[in-house]
Amino acid sequence: MEPTFSPPLHMQRHQFVIDFVKRNKTQKVVDLGCSECSLLKKLKFHREIELLVGVDINGAKVKRKMHGLAPISSYYLQPTYDQLRIELYQGSVTQKDVRLRGFDLATCIELIEHLTLADVERFSEVVFGYMTPVAVIVSTPNSEFNPLFPGLTGFRHSDHKFEWTRAEFKSWALKVCLEYGYEVDFTGVGQAPPGQQERVGFCSQIGVFHRLGGRDSCDMLYGDDAEDMFSYTLLYSINYPSLRDQNILRRVLVSEVLYWAEKLKGRWLEQKRDYSFTLCQTERRGEECLGVSERRMEMENKQTAYATAACGAEMCGRGVAEDTERKDEELSWTNVQGQHELHRFVSVPLAVLWYRCPKVSALSGNLTNLKHILMEAPEVKLSQDGSAVLVQDQGFEEKGDCNDLEDSGYAEASQYSHSDEQEEAWDTNV
Ligand code: SAM
Repeated sequence: MEPTFSPPLHMQRHQFVIDFVKRNKTQKVVDLGCSECSLLKKLKFHREIELLVGVDINGAKVKRKMHGLAPISSYYLQPTYDQLRIELYQGSVTQKDVRLRGFDLATCIELIEHLTLADVERFSEVVFGYMTPVAVIVSTPNSEFNPLFPGLTGFRHSDHKFEWTRAEFKSWALKVCLEYGYEVDFTGVGQAPPGQQERVGFCSQIGVFHRLGGRDSCDMLYGDDAEDMFSYTLLYSINYPSLRDQNILRRVLVSEVLYWAEKLKGRWLEQKRDYSFTLCQTERRGEECLGVSERRMEMENKQTAYATAACGAEMCGRGVAEDTERKDEELSWTNVQGQHELHRFVSVPLAVLWYRCPKVSALSGNLTNLKHILMEAPEVKLSQDGSAVLVQDQGFEEKGDCNDLEDSGYAEASQYSHSDEQEEAWDTNV
């Protein structure tokens, strides 16, 4: 019976590479003979990889599916600090190119059997002698397994120039190790049926090579060959969005600040409205334990502290008890006189945003940085001293009725002003 593999053999080969990458935390990986980039597409999800390169002699094959390597939209919407650059080249593994030096891992999955024996010699020199990656994974068919494929005469593929026995593969691999300073372990994927494994071996045999001296021997090797060769043609390159890119960091931080400032404003206004309603009810019932103005002041004080704390605590996950003590961080109203009309803003101190929103603090590092970044951001309106984000109160503009607000006890003097528009204290305008 013809052997079938589960998962399919090509997936087992790719999984072997993925497991190696995970175990060794390899950052720079080149896939030689990458074909339609199917291994690269799996490797791009492994965040330890920072540089992923594919090379194939057949440029048309590479181009066919290469756009599947582009970042999906969530990478732009929620970038992380991880970095990934992908490059694809058309070129032959028998030729040197300086851009392929300095890799942690080179994979050659079902490649060498497509080369003539003379080209295998060149390949060995280029990969092990010139590129000198820290590790190399070579997989190739094991011809001893072939009798288990009924009806198979000759090689497994019409383009194969040879298929080696385990002894032939071993002999080539050990020669390479001796010549270029590597050591090798032999394994494989695609198990033979029970009882036959030892006799026929794996369907795909694999050699895992490690450079003697590891990473440290790299500089010494490069010193020997100063020549820079560029024999490959770049077909595709892409940098994945990363928060290590200052422009991306700025964009994400600004959108985070605008989002939370708006949220905090919304919560604060909601709380104020609830308070106003409670106050009206109480007054109507004539429960005059305190004078109205005294009670209003007392409730306002509590209200502002709780509104601010509730917004922060609920949305950003900090404790209310801690937050109620931050009297200097309260939201407040501030007014800005435009050319024709008065605009009202809610002033959200940067300190509130920084302390209450972990993502804002993580992205900015400290309050001074946050202020500097926001000062450069035209989409954020800051108070004149730069200590608060001003979020427009749309409701106020629509109503345009200042007296209602003052009557409800909402009016507060602003400590902020702005350079190009004159901000005025609310209660001096009503
Ligand atoms: N590595 C692929 C995978 O795991 O999905 C499959 C490789 S496919 C069987 C062999 C590939 O080697 C082909 O895409 C072929 O174009 C490429 N190839 C053949 N000779 C080459 C050479 N001299 N340099 C680079 N690539 C070569």
